[in-house]
Amino acid sequence: MNSSRDVVIGVDIGTTSTKAVAFGEFGQVISSHAMDYPIVQPHPGWAEQDSDIIFSAVVKSVNAVIRKANLLPKQVKALGFSAAMHSLIALDETGRPLTRCIIWADNRSVKQSERLLKEMDGLEIYKRTGTPIHPMSPLPKLFWMKEEMPELFHKTHKFVSIKEYVIDQLYSQYIVDYSIASATGLFNLETLDWDDDVLRLLGLAKERLSVPVPTTYVLQGMKKEWAEQMGVDPALPVIVGASDGVLANIGVGAVSAKEAAITIGTSGAVRTVSSVPKTDERGRTFCYALTEQHWVIGGPTNNGGILLRWLRDEFGSQEREVAKKLGIDPYDLLTQYAEKVPAGSEGLLFLPFLSGERAPYWNANARGTFFGIGLHHKREHFIRAVMEGVCMSVFSVALAIRDLTGPLSEIRVSGGFAKSRFWRQMLADMMGKELLVPKTHEASALGAAVLALYALGELPSFETVKQWIQIKSRHIPNENHTSLYLELFYMYERLYHRLKDEFDVMASFQRKYS
Ligand code: ADP
Repeated sequence: MNSSRDVVIGVDIGTTSTKAVAFGEFGQVISSHAMDYPIVQPHPGWAEQDSDIIFSAVVKSVNAVIRKANLLPKQVKALGFSAAMHSLIALDETGRPLTRCIIWADNRSVKQSERLLKEMDGLEIYKRTGTPIHPMSPLPKLFWMKEEMPELFHKTHKFVSIKEYVIDQLYSQYIVDYSIASATGLFNLETLDWDDDVLRLLGLAKERLSVPVPTTYVLQGMKKEWAEQMGVDPALPVIVGASDGVLANIGVGAVSAKEAAITIGTSGAVRTVSSVPKTDERGRTFCYALTEQHWVIGGPTNNGGILLRWLRDEFGSQEREVAKKLGIDPYDLLTQYAEKVPAGSEGLLFLPFLSGERAPYWNANARGTFFGIGLHHKREHFIRAVMEGVCMSVFSVALAIRDLTGPLSEIRVSGGFAKSRFWRQMLADMMGKELLVPKTHEASALGAAVLALYALGELPSFETVKQWIQIKSRHIPNENHTSLYLELFYMYERLYHRLKDEFDVMASFQRKYS
């Protein structure tokens, strides 16, 4: 039997799985459990999930962490929720779903997003709501539903996100935390309520949305049936929590405007914390709530690790074979080749927009470009240029954030990219900042658990958590490389702007002929 009385459970309702983690007093992992679920794509560009499967994953994963750690209900002090942003479910009067859960990756509302931007003063909407106008967010999805499925739109009793759905199942309450609300495109960052003008534009009454509450809001009195199935006391304080992105900042220890959390998995994101909400005159960044005193300013890039994966899969058959024989990861071979080439790839520059770009350009038509190719460029130059291109896309997001929150002094990285020492050093050099690799296990779940303690008044500030997070390695930037990369980066930005119109032409050519 575990003797600790200070267990807090963080539950992260993610896109591919729900992860529950039981944390001890100083954030140490006591037990964890993940349950996967699929994404359904009924039409090209659509991405949906089954809300009941996700709810069941929440119940079962909490039960599993409690069982694995042999915890008694009274040993659990609190539970906090984290969830993916931007999801949308239409519910009927009895709370049953009329649609599947439409997730951030769903692109059906491209046209509605374009119209919002061009015809409905989308930039102003963004400035009030903090959510960039993009098909990822619920606002254009609601416009899509109103236009394409008007009957469904009108008969829907409530529009909710996946976290609201889970909470309604557990407590029969329609509430939404400020954080998830701030990623809908309908929530006013100043009034901390649904934005009247956006609702008017949409023709949606406030009553058809949940009641917004602070992320520290405490729920009690869980329905007996579910408390039993989870193995918790119905009186357990459950903290509504925030979204996965903003909680990950707590989980890696990037909790002020001086530190940025950079994640590079398949895609990438840069995020920093500000004490007041801030939006960008040019619409480059997002602003999502963590608490009323902590706002996460950041930007997502489409072009992260997916580029090295593309290189490995399309051009790396040789490396794949050799790696297989040697029993090593083909990524390690590719990065070893790249390491043979000096910084700047001897004048080979790569614009990495293979899947268009979100922050800072928000341009779906942007495309990849190699620039400066000469006969002296070999295979390894191309590999290095691709890796440098990924770092430049991240750097460009960080610069947009810096315009709002001031200079950074430290960056904390995570994601598949962080496995490569060489790639990490490249990013430290590019940004000219010290780069830290925190030892994390489910940063968003840790963030949810920490926010729960904060809500209960047991943590004076998020700064305390930094002491809990071990640092695996540190990288000091090489100043010579930093100045070289800066020159290259100016070229990158200029090139993007010069090619902008050509990207539109090429994208329409590609749509026509492929
Ligand atoms: P996701 O969770 O978004 O699917 P991951 O965090 O697993 O992504 O990271 C996947 C990406 O990380 C890969 O596409 C690759 O670019 C990068 N990556 C993974 N392992 C390595 C490695 N050993 N060296 C360099 N890059 C790596």
